[in-house]
Amino acid sequence: MPRIGIIGAGVAGLHLGLLLRQHDVPVTLYTDRSPHDLATSRLQATVAHHAPTLQREKDLGVHFWPDAEYGYTCHHHYVGGEQPLRFRGDFTRPSSAVDQRLYLPALAEAYENQGGDLRVGRVEAGDLTTLADRHELLVVAAGRSAFSPLFASRDAYSPFREPQRRLCAGLYHGIRPADPKGVTLSIAPGHGELIEIPLFSRDGHVSALLFESVPGSGQDVLNDLSYEEDPALFLRAVRDQLAARHPDVFERIVPGEFDLTGPLDLVQGALTPTVREDFARLPNGRYALAVGDAHTVVDPIVGQGANAASHSAWVTGEEIGADLALDELFCRRVAQRRADVVLGAAQWSNFMVQPPAAHLLELLVAMSGCQSAADAFTDNFGHPDRQWRIVATAERTHAFLERHGAALPPAAP
Ligand SMILES: Cc1cc2nc3c(=O)[nH]c(=O)nc-3n(C[C@H](O)[C@H](O)[C@H](O)COP(=O)(O)OP(=O)(O)OC[C@H]3O[C@@H](n4cnc5c(N)ncnc54)[C@H](O)[C@@H]3O)c2cc1C
Repeated sequence: MPRIGIIGAGVAGLHLGLLLRQHDVPVTLYTDRSPHDLATSRLQATVAHHAPTLQREKDLGVHFWPDAEYGYTCHHHYVGGEQPLRFRGDFTRPSSAVDQRLYLPALAEAYENQGGDLRVGRVEAGDLTTLADRHELLVVAAGRSAFSPLFASRDAYSPFREPQRRLCAGLYHGIRPADPKGVTLSIAPGHGELIEIPLFSRDGHVSALLFESVPGSGQDVLNDLSYEEDPALFLRAVRDQLAARHPDVFERIVPGEFDLTGPLDLVQGALTPTVREDFARLPNGRYALAVGDAHTVVDPIVGQGANAASHSAWVTGEEIGADLALDELFCRRVAQRRADVVLGAAQWSNFMVQPPAAHLLELLVAMSGCQSAADAFTDNFGHPDRQWRIVATAERTHAFLERHGAALPPAAP
C-alpha cells in the first residue's frame, strides 16, 4: 500500500482522505487549523454543493444533512434592466449549502474515525522534502495561496492578472426564503451580481448573501464598510444595494429582523482566478499533485470551486487505487481525467465575470421563455463541463437553444 500525504483539510483534502480510508490506504492529513479552530473561525465562503458532490458525500458515508431538510431544488433568476427578466430553472436532483465551519469539522471527525491520521501544524515549503521522503505521493490541497510557487500558473486558462469582482459574503437573519426554496441569482448589469443561498449554519437555516461587485461599480461600497465598526451603517448599505439592484431579494426582507447572524459571519475580499500546473516533481523524484484551489481558483460567481475540488479529489483517489505507480504518468492520467470538469468550471466562471457576451444575453432571454432550456442550464451547475460546451461560442448556444425548441434570436442582417 502506498502511503499518501495530503496537505490541507478543506473539501479537497477531506474528500480524498475519506475515499482513501474507505480502501484502507494509509493517509496522513496535515492541516494548519484544528477542526475546533475551524469551527470557531471567521466565515471563509458560502458554499453550495451540487448533486454530483452530494452523491460523493453519500458514497463516503458523510452526507449528514439530508436533502429533504437541507437541500433546495431550483434557481430563481432575475436580470435587471429596462425590461427585467425573471425565470426559474429546476434541478433534477437537489443541491444544498452547509456552513463549512460545520461541514469540514464533521468530515474531519469521520476521517479520524475511519483510521485517518490528522496532524495539526503548518507545513512550510521547506518541509516538502521531508514529507516527500515519508509519502509515496504528496497531494497539495492547501487552498489558494499556500504553495503556489510550486505549481506555475497556466496562462491559457488564467486570463486575468487581478480580481474581476469584489466579494462580500455574509450570513443573515430576516430574509424570507424564496418559494420554492432555492438560490436567487440576481444580475445588476454593470454593477455585478448577488447570489442568495439558503444555507444551514450553527444559527439554523439562514440566508447567505454573496455580493459579486464589479470594482468601482458602486455595489462594491459594501467592501469598504466594516460591520464591526458600525453595524447599522453596514446593514443600511446592504439594504440600499438590495433595494437599488436586487428587488426580488429586497422584497423578502422582514422589517426589524434583518441582521448579520454574527460579526464573524462576514467575509470581504477578492481573488484572482488562476489555473495552475497539475503536478510538480520534488527533489527526491517523487511527485506533488495539486488538488482543489491549490490547482484551480475560480471566482465563486457560479459556485464551482468546492464542487470541482471534490471531483478532482475523487478522480485522484480512484487513480491511486487503480494505478501501479504514483509517478509522472499517474499525475498525467489524473490531470487528463479531471480536465473536462475542472477546466470547464474555470472557463465557464471566467466567461461569467467578463462583460456579458451577446450570446449570454440571448441565452438568458431565451431561457426566460423556455422551461426545458432553463432546467438544463440549472442542472449543469453540477456539470460545468457540459455548461462550458453550451456557452463557449455563440454557435453552441444557438444549437443548445434549438435543441430545446427555444425561440432563437433573429439572425444578423
Ligand atoms: C465567498 C465564496 C463563496 C463560494 N461559494 C462556492 C459555492 O457556492 N460552491 C463552490 O463549489 N465553491 C464555492 N466557493 C469556492 C470554495 O470555497 C473553494 O473552492 C473550496 O473551499 C476549496 O477547497 P480546498 O479544499 O481546495 O481549499 P480550502 O478550503 O482553502 O482548504 C485548504 C486547507 O488547507 C489548510 N492549509 C493552508 N495552508 C496550509 C499549510 N501551509 N499547512 C497546512 N495546512 C494548510 C487550510 O487551513 C485549509 O483548511 C466559494 C468561495 C468564496 C470565497
